[in-house]
Amino acid sequence: MDMAAPRHIKTTCPYCGVGCGVIAEVSGTGDVSVRGDESHPANFGRLCSKGAALAETIGLDDRLLYPQVNGAHTDWGSALDLVADKFGAAIRDHGPDSVAFYVSGQLLTEDYYVANKLMKGFIGSANIDTNSRLCMASSVAGHRRAFGADTVPGCYEDLEVADLIVLTGSNLAWCHPVLYQRIVAAKEKRPRMKIVLIDPRRTATSDIADLHLAIKPDSDVALFLGLLRYLARSGALKRRYINGHTTGFKEALQSAELLDLYDLVRRTGVAGATLEQFFALFAATEKVVTVYSQGVNQSASGTDKVNAIINCHLATGRIGKPGMGPLSVTGQPNAMGGREVGGMANMLAAHMNIEDAVHRERVQRFWQAPTIAAKPGLKAVDMFRAVADGRIKALWVMATNPVVSMPDAGNVEAAIRNCPFVVVSDVTAATDTARLAHVLLPAAGWGEKSGTVTNTERRISRQRTFLTPPGDARPDWWIISEVASRMGHGAAFTFSEPAEIFAEHAALSAFENDGARDFDIGAHGTIDAAGFEDLEPFQWPRTKQGSSVERMFTDGRFFTPDGKARFVNVQAPALAATEPGFPLTLNTGRVRDHWHTMTRTGKSARLSRHYAEPFVEIHPEDAARHRIGEADLVRVSTGLGAILVRALITPRQQPGSIFVPMHWNDQFASRARVDVLAASVTDPTSGQPALKNVPARIERFVAA
Ligand code: SF4
Repeated sequence: MDMAAPRHIKTTCPYCGVGCGVIAEVSGTGDVSVRGDESHPANFGRLCSKGAALAETIGLDDRLLYPQVNGAHTDWGSALDLVADKFGAAIRDHGPDSVAFYVSGQLLTEDYYVANKLMKGFIGSANIDTNSRLCMASSVAGHRRAFGADTVPGCYEDLEVADLIVLTGSNLAWCHPVLYQRIVAAKEKRPRMKIVLIDPRRTATSDIADLHLAIKPDSDVALFLGLLRYLARSGALKRRYINGHTTGFKEALQSAELLDLYDLVRRTGVAGATLEQFFALFAATEKVVTVYSQGVNQSASGTDKVNAIINCHLATGRIGKPGMGPLSVTGQPNAMGGREVGGMANMLAAHMNIEDAVHRERVQRFWQAPTIAAKPGLKAVDMFRAVADGRIKALWVMATNPVVSMPDAGNVEAAIRNCPFVVVSDVTAATDTARLAHVLLPAAGWGEKSGTVTNTERRISRQRTFLTPPGDARPDWWIISEVASRMGHGAAFTFSEPAEIFAEHAALSAFENDGARDFDIGAHGTIDAAGFEDLEPFQWPRTKQGSSVERMFTDGRFFTPDGKARFVNVQAPALAATEPGFPLTLNTGRVRDHWHTMTRTGKSARLSRHYAEPFVEIHPEDAARHRIGEADLVRVSTGLGAILVRALITPRQQPGSIFVPMHWNDQFASRARVDVLAASVTDPTSGQPALKNVPARIERFVAA
């Protein structure tokens, strides 16, 4: 029997924002195995446990194979007609703001582009927001305030040439493991490299930390104000850089001067000598990268935390140079790509500004659209509030599971259940959200679809097809284009392959580029299918000569009207009062081997071995106080609800705080959805929910 030779397809991991290159090998009999792509600049062949287990998660269990209407199988034509009719009727009867798309950092850039184009240019509303709002909206807002545009200044290589890496609110070892591996390898080669970890918990990342500041939750702004004050007092400021390339320093420093060491100790809970050790190390080390993630972003003061960090880098001129700068690491594989095409309620495509009439007119003219959203739309939390109070009549959820991942998830579930018309397009029908849909649309999954994603360091990589979509599954961009066509907008949605969408996106990024924007991949505006297929990973922006820009702001010019960066005058937030009856602080986060709501990683027995069931980490003192023993069932409660999880007693927690992972949901364990416990408190600037630092209580569960 002739056996076809194995095929090797270069693609990109669909999990975290590191964006590792993967080679999928498909054997002659159709078996798939994966390995790291040695030539990909994000990982140089490395993969973490999740990436290495990708082949175990692409089976057909739970796959949504055919369109469904009210639980009954149907054909694509009938399902798409119904979606277009219902959305059209809501818009006709209640206006464009009566409909909403809730999309996902799992979508490819081309999917995001088409969804954003339909909503903002053809429906005429900006009610499109994304689960990336839960992950990096505060970084976006902080970048825009400081730099004039949402731009990550540095790149991964900076982590290998830095002499000091400050990891704040980031368990890199578990959440961005390949970046962690790159740092570990660099530290082995260059032992003088120092690592400071700023995190209320002792995590796996602590293993490489030379210094751990176990700060109280949400005391980061105070900590970095204290650092700014120290830098000023110790002569570590770069006055020439501050005067030549920034504005607002004086006011920012005045706020920092309000906090003395005594205040800092009280607010952060860290000993004065330890704080001064960190400050002195930062002041004395030229090559510093500050890496931050969800511990910074997922907070009611998330944007201020981001700017407090950036302020310290601007004050020392440590930005735009090798081994220096603030680096926000994104959670999802394409959180960055969504930002590029305006897949958020407060942005336009190609990083243009929805509040700017010139930008709105430019995008509308480029799209030849009948309209353009005139104002920002509803951000994620507000969107589901609008679903709850009846303002949203038709909702389309794409590739995400808000019934598990949104704060106040119980009320989000009730809101979706009561929404007059709900569409879910996804690879699976088994999510807690998909169960509530009137219409289910089967989407192609990883390996079955083609397009691009952008990682943390602005690197655009291809995801390529190596599997045939099962059943009737189709790519998201096709589904959205078909609905657009049925709504009467066919002429603007004639895409027949993702290369055409990428080319349009690239052309828009260069269209009448007035030099005031940060995003330009216009060199690809004429790319054809073959060129798209061969596209090698590259970082945006791309110069007119076609080379990628590794680091931004190397010339000290920013995207503000006067070209200067802005110090943001942040204030330390008021100390939170403890809530009567809820004396503990609940923190949430990831575990090493699971991803989001486990719709894929939950299929791998190997990945589930690390932690087989949901748990709550409790400090031994708190466990003793509540008479809780190891592996006891524990009820964790807040003002909004309660979950049942196993006790894991560990000194990794500080007394008074507990930790529950975010992944488990009703599909895998009854009553373990931790996000039902978090109130929908948001950062006032970014709209990002505060999924950490939630007042809670615990008690040993005794069955009645
Ligand atoms: Fe995938 Fe992230 Fe792991 Fe890389 S580090 S293999 S992108 S999950």
